[in-house]
Parts: sequence; structure tokens; C-alpha cells
Amino acid sequence: MKALPAEVDFVVIGAGVAGLRAAIELADAGRVLVISKQEPPEFKTKDRRSEAAWLSETDDVILHLQDTIAAGDGLSKPEAVKIMVEEGVERIDELLTWGRHAGTKLSFEPENAHTRSRVLHAASEPSGKEILRILWDKVHSLKQVSVAQFTFATSLLTDAGRVTGVSLIDEKAVPHDISCSAVLLATGGCGQIYRNTSNPESATADGIALAVRAGAEVSDMEFVQFHPTALHMKKVPQILLPEGLRADGAYLRNFELDRFMGKYHPLGERAPRDLVSRAIVHEMEVSRAKDPFVYLDLTHLNTTKVQKSFPFIYETCMAYNVDITEDVIPVRPAAYANAGGVRTDLDGKTNVNRLYAAGEVAATGVHGANQLPSNSILESLVFGARAGRAMRNVEKISHQPGEPKATYSNGPVDVGVEELIGRIQDTMWKEVGVVRMRPGMQNAVKALEEMAPKLSQPRTRRAHEAANLHLTALLIARSALAREESRGAHYRIDYSDHEDRRFSRHSLIRGDKVLYPIT
Ligand SMILES: Cc1cc2nc3c(=O)[nH]c(=O)nc-3n(C[C@H](O)[C@H](O)[C@H](O)COP(=O)(O)OP(=O)(O)OC[C@H]3O[C@@H](n4cnc5c(N)ncnc54)[C@H](O)[C@@H]3O)c2cc1C
Repeated sequence: MKALPAEVDFVVIGAGVAGLRAAIELADAGRVLVISKQEPPEFKTKDRRSEAAWLSETDDVILHLQDTIAAGDGLSKPEAVKIMVEEGVERIDELLTWGRHAGTKLSFEPENAHTRSRVLHAASEPSGKEILRILWDKVHSLKQVSVAQFTFATSLLTDAGRVTGVSLIDEKAVPHDISCSAVLLATGGCGQIYRNTSNPESATADGIALAVRAGAEVSDMEFVQFHPTALHMKKVPQILLPEGLRADGAYLRNFELDRFMGKYHPLGERAPRDLVSRAIVHEMEVSRAKDPFVYLDLTHLNTTKVQKSFPFIYETCMAYNVDITEDVIPVRPAAYANAGGVRTDLDGKTNVNRLYAAGEVAATGVHGANQLPSNSILESLVFGARAGRAMRNVEKISHQPGEPKATYSNGPVDVGVEELIGRIQDTMWKEVGVVRMRPGMQNAVKALEEMAPKLSQPRTRRAHEAANLHLTALLIARSALAREESRGAHYRIDYSDHEDRRFSRHSLIRGDKVLYPIT
């Protein structure tokens, strides 16, 4: 392991699509340190149909813009979406140029909620993995950029309202403070707040919590998207069974093996994903089963086509003795993505001086109240690059880093931390999940507030993650309680319609308060 520097020009927290793309942009503007709490990048799913949407040759920028805005249910910012779809073409072209030697065969295929075939698939590799590999190789060719893996950011250093550096725990559990002129948060998602999630174990909401503690505003936290169909089997990872399966004709069946989607939406299984999630939750509730789920049924589809189109799903399920071409597959919804996050302008700038955010941690306004499937990688690429470009113009200031304040340890695991994380996950799943109601959300806020003292002084990396999950869960619960309407991914039984007069606005959290400023 190379020693960590005491000072660099820019720190990028996160080595996913957003962080790596930003680092490339920053490389000729100064010394860049990218930190990642995990190993080298691995796209979150090994599924061949991991995908990034962008415009195909036959596509139309206006149509992609319209699809994205329709999914956002009144809250997508048209200027942000326009930037994403227009600059997305350039970002993808440049990516293909960087990766050309790999000889990847690409094709555009349809996906639910997109009106055109604009979702990219790589023939030989998952396209998401391919994108990360290309960015990773590019970053490693740049002299000014170094990457520290297994290095965990615990807090942002601030002075007189501006960010001056980052506190870290390195891979040997040694604390460091690194000073810099600007920081980019590119820490990804927060799905681990929920008991059922397709997100990796690392998605513990660190970036949102770091930002909030440094005084940053967060926005639209109530809009958590649930993927309708994650594999549900004991001791088996909650693999996402892609929307493409339903687009290709898969059926959903309840406990009695009856098809049910026709009761909920004229498009049946091809209905928008949040509607499908709600229908599944309803079917699970009426089944009164102790461990409820529904079935995804592919048995009527062409076996060879299923095996060829979804090899990862086929092979993984086979490993657990489920032949998806012959057996129905037990599934239930899982937390998947957040439309909200750290509020930024169109250049990734937050309200805290010298703090930027991009990718899943940021709320640029692209997703509004709900995400169009497969826009996330495109957003990370486009706004990662824009944030990197904006940070280049930050005036360089040298700070003397102080002595790191605390000593940390990677183990043994703090007593009670896992139990607290489990309680946060269960509370959020039960009370602030796919279907929400005031009393449940009030219970959740109360239960989370009562847990706070137990998480106030984290000393290990895992305890920091627990504290970050806890803070972000509270932000989500408070925001969901305050939005007295249903919109996009936020669905309340007690307010099942839009309430445009009060809520056709972005939510904003300041301290304990959820506000709806007119922007
Ligand atoms: C199962 C699954 C399938 C998906 N499929 C698609 C798809 O098909 N198409 C699509 O467009 N999107 C998809 N997405 C969403 C997409 O993967 C993400 O939105 C996108 O990759 C976000 O990239 P990012 O750079 O913001 O974050 P990530 O790729 O999540 O990277 C986050 C980085 O931050 C680091 N980090 C986090 N906290 C800390 C900390 N405290 N200290 C140091 N480092 C830290 C992590 O180690 C990691 O390097 C999928 C997501 C999931 C979960």
C-alpha cells in the first residue's frame, strides 16, 4: 500500500462511474486522490443485461427527454434532463473511443418505460462492467491521479463554512486527515437502509451523511425506487430479475399461481415498475403468508431464448436449484435507487463552498420523483464529468492538516452495531417502504430518534456506516411523512393522489425541517 499524501488538490470520494469520470476531467488540473472503501470497481450486477441508456442512431433526443420527464412525475428539471440526454451522446462516444481496443459488440434493446430501443447491451460482457473497466483503465493511465482502495471517508473537514479536506481510515485502520482545495462526493446509493435491497453491502448512504454533517442541503429523499422483482430465497443474494424479463413476456403470479397484474394496470406485467411493486406488495399482504412473495413465471417463453438473453439469471438460479425455464421464481420488491440526494446545481456544486456531488448520491433534478430505468449510469457519466470540469476552476488553497482527532479500529465489530443496523432496516422496510401511511411513518421517525444516542460516537468503520444509515433513514422517513401526497416512487395510502398546490416542488431538508421552497 502506498502512503496516503497529507495534501492533494482534489479528493474524489468514490470510484464508481461518477467518481472515475470526474477524476479523468480533473487530471490535468492538479493532484487527484480517488478513494474507495472497497476493492477495484466491480459493476453491481454481473448480469449481461446491465445497461446504460443512451441515444441510439435512430433515436431522438426529444423523445428520451420526454420519457425521462414523464417518469419524473412533474419533478424532473427539464434543463438537467436536457443536459443529460444531449451531453450523454458525447460522453458515450468518448467512452467507446477509450475502450475501442476491447472490440465490444454493442446493440440497443428495449426496456419498460422507454419508448425506443435505446438501452445499450454489450455482446460479450455486462455493459455496466465494461464501462467501469474502461474508466478504470483510463484513470490508471493518468499520472496525476492516484487511487486508494479500502480507504473509508469518515467525515469532511470544514473551516469557516468551506470544505478543507477529508478524514479517512486507511486499509490498515489507521486514521488520516488529508487536506485539499475541493472534494467530490461520488459515494453511490443507500439501499442498505432497507431490509430488502438489491444494492451492494457498500451502499450505506455515507455520502449523504457526510454532506449533511458538513452543512449541505439534501433534497427529494422520500423518492426511493423499489425494483419489483428481486429473487427471494433464504440465504440467496437478492439478485434483480430484470425488467426486460417482463418486457419479453414473463408473467407475475400470486401465491395461488393466478396472474394478477391485469387487475392493477391495462399494461399488465409491462406496467411502470413502481406500480408493479405496489401490486406485488398488495398481493403479498392479502396472501397472509408469514414470509410472503409472488412468482415470476417464464416457463411459457422459448427456453433457448431465455438462456441466451439472460445467462447470468439462468445460471445463478440454477446454482440454487431453480431452473427458470421450468420453475416459477419466488420474487418480491427490493429497494433499488434514490431519486433524491445531496442537492447540486447543474455543475455538481452543493451549497457548501468547495463541496461537489455527482452520481447516485446527488440530486441534480434529472430523476424528479422517479427514475427512468437505465438513466443512472448516463447521469453519473454526464454529471461526473461536469462536476470535474467545474472543480478545475476552484481556487487552489493550501491547508495544514491537523492531527487526526480519533483513533479507529476495523475490529472487533462494535457490540450491538449489527443489531442496530437490522432494526433500522426492518423499521424502514415495514413503515417507509413501497406503501406508506402516516402512523407507520410517525412510528419510524420516533423509533429512529430513540436509537440516536447509541450511534453518536462511532469508532469503527462499521459503526460509521451504521450512523450514516441511521441519519439517512431519518431524512427519508421525515421527508416521506412531510409529503402528504403520492407522486412518482412515493406512495401513501392516506394521500393516494397528487396534491400539486402544495407539493409540485422539490423537498429540501434543513436541520430537522422538511421544506418545499419555491424555486
Ligand atoms: C443491482 C443494480 C443494477 C443496476 N443496473 C443498472 C443499469 O442497468 N443501468 C443503469 O443506468 N444503472 C443501473 N444501476 C444503477 C447504477 O449502478 C448506479 O446508479 C451508478 O453506478 C451510480 O454510480 P456512482 O458512481 O454514483 O456510485 P457507485 O458505482 O455505487 O460507486 C460508489 C463508490 O463510492 C465508494 N464509497 C462509498 N462510501 C464511501 C466512503 N465512506 N469512503 C470511501 N469510499 C466510499 C464505493 O466504494 C464506490 O467506489 C444498477 C444498480 C444496482 C444496485
